[in-house]
Amino acid sequence: MKRFLKKCFGFYNLFPCPVCGTGDGGGENRICPECMEKMPLIPGDHCTGCGGSLDSMLARCSKCLESADFPWQDAFSLFEYRGEARDLIHRMKYYGQAQLARTFGILLAEKLAAEAPEFDLILPLPLFWVRKLERSYNQSELLAKVIGKELAVPVGNDLKRIKGGKHQASLGRRQRQIGARGVFAVKHPEKLYGKRILLVDDVFTTGATLNSAAKVLMKANVKALYVATIARTQRWRDR
Ligand SMILES: [Zn+2]
Ligand SMILES: [Zn+2]
Repeated sequence: MKRFLKKCFGFYNLFPCPVCGTGDGGGENRICPECMEKMPLIPGDHCTGCGGSLDSMLARCSKCLESADFPWQDAFSLFEYRGEARDLIHRMKYYGQAQLARTFGILLAEKLAAEAPEFDLILPLPLFWVRKLERSYNQSELLAKVIGKELAVPVGNDLKRIKGGKHQASLGRRQRQIGARGVFAVKHPEKLYGKRILLVDDVFTTGATLNSAAKVLMKANVKALYVATIARTQRWRDR
Protein backbone atom coordinates (compact mmCIF):
# COMPACT_ATOMS: atom_id res chain seq x y z
CA MET A 1 0.00 0.00 0.00
CA LYS A 2 2.77 2.38 0.98
CA ARG A 3 4.51 1.68 -2.31
CA PHE A 4 1.28 2.24 -4.25
CA LEU A 5 0.71 5.58 -2.54
CA LYS A 6 4.29 6.60 -3.17
CA LYS A 7 3.83 5.80 -6.83
CA CYS A 8 0.63 7.84 -7.05
CA PHE A 9 2.12 10.84 -5.30
CA GLY A 10 5.59 10.48 -6.76
CA PHE A 11 5.37 13.92 -8.35
CA TYR A 12 5.43 15.48 -4.89
CA ASN A 13 8.83 13.98 -4.34
CA LEU A 14 11.19 16.56 -5.83
CA PHE A 15 14.30 14.44 -5.38
CA PRO A 16 13.23 10.86 -5.92
CA CYS A 17 15.64 7.95 -6.06
CA PRO A 18 17.11 7.96 -9.60
CA VAL A 19 16.78 4.19 -9.92
CA CYS A 20 13.13 3.49 -9.02
CA GLY A 21 11.89 7.07 -9.43
CA THR A 22 9.67 6.80 -6.38
CA GLY A 23 11.85 5.98 -3.36
CA ASP A 24 13.08 8.67 -1.02
CA GLY A 25 16.20 10.32 -2.40
CA GLY A 26 16.82 12.08 0.91
CA GLY A 27 16.39 15.50 -0.74
CA GLU A 28 19.49 14.99 -2.90
CA ASN A 29 18.81 12.56 -5.74
CA ARG A 30 20.26 9.78 -3.62
CA ILE A 31 19.65 6.13 -4.39
CA CYS A 32 17.02 4.85 -1.93
CA PRO A 33 18.05 2.08 0.53
CA GLU A 34 15.94 -0.56 -1.25
CA CYS A 35 17.59 0.13 -4.62
CA MET A 36 21.02 0.45 -3.03
CA GLU A 37 20.70 -3.14 -1.85
CA LYS A 38 20.37 -4.28 -5.46
CA MET A 39 23.34 -2.25 -6.73
CA PRO A 40 26.50 -4.23 -7.67
CA LEU A 41 28.68 -2.72 -4.92
CA ILE A 42 32.41 -3.42 -4.79
CA PRO A 43 33.55 -4.49 -1.32
CA GLY A 44 36.07 -2.46 0.70
CA ASP A 45 38.74 -5.13 0.30
CA HIS A 46 39.88 -4.66 -3.28
CA CYS A 47 42.89 -4.75 -5.59
CA THR A 48 44.81 -1.47 -5.24
CA GLY A 49 45.64 -1.54 -8.95
CA CYS A 50 42.36 -2.08 -10.77
CA GLY A 51 39.97 -1.68 -7.85
CA GLY A 52 38.53 -5.14 -8.48
CA SER A 53 38.42 -8.27 -6.38
CA LEU A 54 41.54 -9.87 -4.93
CA ASP A 55 42.61 -13.44 -5.64
CA SER A 56 45.35 -13.83 -3.03
CA MET A 57 46.65 -12.26 0.18
CA LEU A 58 48.55 -9.65 -1.86
CA ALA A 59 47.30 -6.09 -2.31
CA ARG A 60 47.05 -6.45 -6.09
CA CYS A 61 45.26 -9.10 -8.11
CA SER A 62 47.38 -11.52 -10.12
CA LYS A 63 46.51 -9.83 -13.40
CA CYS A 64 47.66 -6.42 -12.15
CA LEU A 65 50.88 -7.92 -10.80
CA GLU A 66 51.46 -9.68 -14.08
CA SER A 67 50.67 -7.04 -16.66
CA ALA A 68 49.84 -3.61 -15.23
CA ASP A 69 52.19 -0.90 -14.05
CA PHE A 70 49.67 1.40 -12.43
CA PRO A 71 51.67 3.97 -10.44
CA TRP A 72 48.90 4.83 -7.97
CA GLN A 73 48.72 3.70 -4.36
CA ASP A 74 45.08 2.68 -4.48
CA ALA A 75 42.02 2.61 -6.74
CA PHE A 76 38.48 3.08 -5.44
CA SER A 77 35.34 2.21 -7.36
CA LEU A 78 31.76 2.13 -6.15
CA PHE A 79 30.13 -0.39 -8.45
CA GLU A 80 30.73 -3.08 -10.97
CA TYR A 81 29.87 -1.69 -14.39
CA ARG A 82 26.64 -3.60 -14.99
CA GLY A 83 22.91 -3.48 -14.38
CA GLU A 84 21.50 -0.33 -12.77
CA ALA A 85 24.96 1.12 -12.18
CA ARG A 86 25.70 0.98 -15.91
CA ASP A 87 22.28 2.43 -16.81
CA LEU A 88 22.71 5.35 -14.42
CA ILE A 89 26.18 6.14 -15.80
CA HIS A 90 24.79 6.07 -19.35
CA ARG A 91 22.01 8.44 -18.33
CA MET A 92 24.60 10.81 -16.86
CA LYS A 93 26.98 10.63 -19.83
CA TYR A 94 24.80 10.31 -22.89
CA TYR A 95 21.31 11.49 -21.90
CA GLY A 96 22.12 14.82 -20.29
CA GLN A 97 21.24 13.82 -16.72
CA ALA A 98 24.09 15.78 -15.18
CA GLN A 99 22.41 15.75 -11.77
CA LEU A 100 23.46 12.11 -11.42
CA ALA A 101 27.01 13.35 -10.90
CA ARG A 102 25.75 14.51 -7.52
CA THR A 103 24.25 11.09 -6.73
CA PHE A 104 27.56 9.39 -7.49
CA GLY A 105 29.80 12.13 -6.11
CA ILE A 106 28.25 11.96 -2.66
CA LEU A 107 28.56 8.16 -2.59
CA LEU A 108 32.19 8.32 -3.72
CA ALA A 109 32.99 10.98 -1.12
CA GLU A 110 31.53 8.72 1.58
CA LYS A 111 33.57 5.76 0.37
CA LEU A 112 36.77 7.81 0.20
CA ALA A 113 36.20 9.29 3.66
CA ALA A 114 35.87 5.77 5.05
CA GLU A 115 38.59 3.97 3.09
CA ALA A 116 41.14 6.32 1.50
CA PRO A 117 44.09 8.16 3.03
CA GLU A 118 44.02 11.96 2.94
CA PHE A 119 44.77 13.80 -0.29
CA ASP A 120 45.46 17.48 -1.07
CA LEU A 121 44.05 17.97 -4.53
CA ILE A 122 41.43 16.41 -6.81
CA LEU A 123 42.02 16.30 -10.57
CA PRO A 124 39.26 15.17 -12.93
CA LEU A 125 40.28 13.56 -16.20
CA PRO A 126 39.58 16.25 -18.80
CA LEU A 127 37.67 15.57 -22.00
CA PHE A 128 39.12 16.60 -25.34
CA TRP A 129 37.57 19.99 -26.19
CA VAL A 130 35.58 18.64 -29.16
CA ARG A 131 34.01 15.97 -26.97
CA LYS A 132 33.19 18.53 -24.31
CA LEU A 133 31.48 20.72 -26.89
CA GLU A 134 29.40 17.73 -28.01
CA ARG A 135 28.33 16.85 -24.50
CA SER A 136 28.31 20.37 -23.00
CA TYR A 137 29.72 19.10 -19.69
CA ASN A 138 32.47 16.83 -18.45
CA GLN A 139 30.98 14.27 -16.07
CA SER A 140 34.35 13.66 -14.38
CA GLU A 141 34.64 17.37 -13.63
CA LEU A 142 31.14 17.45 -12.13
CA LEU A 143 31.94 14.38 -10.03
CA ALA A 144 35.23 15.89 -8.83
CA LYS A 145 33.44 19.08 -7.78
CA VAL A 146 30.91 17.17 -5.66
CA ILE A 147 33.65 15.09 -4.02
CA GLY A 148 35.73 18.22 -3.40
CA LYS A 149 32.83 20.03 -1.79
CA GLU A 150 31.87 17.07 0.40
CA LEU A 151 35.43 16.45 1.59
CA ALA A 152 36.59 20.10 1.58
CA VAL A 153 39.47 19.36 -0.82
CA PRO A 154 40.29 21.73 -3.72
CA VAL A 155 39.64 20.65 -7.30
CA GLY A 156 42.28 21.61 -9.88
CA ASN A 157 42.33 21.87 -13.66
CA ASP A 158 46.03 21.18 -14.05
CA LEU A 159 45.60 18.24 -16.39
CA LYS A 160 45.17 19.05 -20.04
CA ARG A 161 44.02 16.70 -22.77
CA ILE A 162 46.20 17.24 -25.81
CA LYS A 163 44.82 14.46 -27.99
CA GLY A 164 41.29 13.36 -28.76
CA GLY A 165 41.40 9.77 -29.88
CA LYS A 166 38.58 7.46 -30.82
CA HIS A 167 35.70 6.62 -28.52
CA GLN A 168 37.32 4.32 -25.97
CA ALA A 169 34.22 2.14 -25.84
CA SER A 170 34.85 0.97 -29.40
CA LEU A 171 38.46 -0.09 -28.82
CA GLY A 172 40.01 -3.32 -27.58
CA ARG A 173 42.39 -3.45 -24.63
CA ARG A 174 45.64 -3.30 -26.60
CA GLN A 175 44.35 -0.47 -28.81
CA ARG A 176 43.31 1.46 -25.71
CA GLN A 177 46.76 1.19 -24.25
CA ILE A 178 48.41 2.41 -27.43
CA GLY A 179 45.76 5.10 -27.96
CA ALA A 180 46.16 6.45 -24.44
CA ARG A 181 49.85 7.31 -24.82
CA GLY A 182 50.68 10.99 -24.93
CA VAL A 183 47.07 12.03 -24.34
CA PHE A 184 47.67 14.31 -21.35
CA ALA A 185 49.96 17.12 -20.28
CA VAL A 186 50.31 19.03 -17.01
CA LYS A 187 49.85 22.80 -17.09
CA HIS A 188 51.96 23.91 -14.11
CA PRO A 189 54.01 20.94 -12.91
CA GLU A 190 55.60 22.98 -10.12
CA LYS A 191 52.17 23.42 -8.50
CA LEU A 192 51.79 19.65 -8.15
CA TYR A 193 55.17 18.94 -6.62
CA GLY A 194 54.87 16.89 -3.40
CA LYS A 195 51.04 16.81 -3.54
CA ARG A 196 48.82 13.82 -2.78
CA ILE A 197 46.41 13.68 -5.68
CA LEU A 198 43.09 11.98 -6.33
CA LEU A 199 42.38 11.35 -10.01
CA VAL A 200 38.69 11.15 -10.86
CA ASP A 201 37.05 9.49 -13.85
CA ASP A 202 33.69 7.87 -14.50
CA VAL A 203 34.54 4.29 -15.50
CA PHE A 204 37.66 2.17 -15.00
CA THR A 205 37.92 -0.10 -18.03
CA THR A 206 41.51 -1.14 -18.75
CA GLY A 207 42.97 1.70 -16.70
CA ALA A 208 44.94 2.83 -19.77
CA THR A 209 43.57 6.38 -19.87
CA LEU A 210 44.00 6.87 -16.13
CA ASN A 211 47.49 5.41 -16.39
CA SER A 212 48.40 7.86 -19.13
CA ALA A 213 47.31 10.78 -16.90
CA ALA A 214 49.07 9.22 -13.89
CA LYS A 215 52.35 8.98 -15.77
CA VAL A 216 52.48 12.72 -16.50
CA LEU A 217 51.61 13.45 -12.87
CA MET A 218 54.44 11.19 -11.68
CA LYS A 219 56.80 13.18 -13.88
CA ALA A 220 55.65 16.30 -12.01
CA ASN A 221 56.88 14.58 -8.81
CA VAL A 222 53.60 14.24 -7.00
CA LYS A 223 53.90 12.54 -3.61
CA ALA A 224 51.05 10.05 -3.91
CA LEU A 225 48.30 9.19 -6.36
CA TYR A 226 44.87 7.65 -5.86
CA VAL A 227 42.17 6.88 -8.36
CA ALA A 228 38.40 7.11 -7.89
CA THR A 229 35.80 5.97 -10.42
CA ILE A 230 32.08 5.31 -10.23
CA ALA A 231 32.36 1.85 -11.69
CA ARG A 232 34.82 -0.65 -13.09
CA THR A 233 34.21 -3.18 -15.81
CA GLN A 234 34.12 -6.64 -14.31
CA ARG A 235 36.34 -8.42 -16.77
CA TRP A 236 38.75 -5.77 -17.97
CA ARG A 237 41.43 -8.43 -18.01
CA ASP A 238 39.70 -10.29 -20.84
CA ARG A 239 39.50 -7.41 -23.25
ZN1 LIG B 1 14.93 3.47 -5.40
ZN1 LIG C 1 43.89 -5.72 -10.06
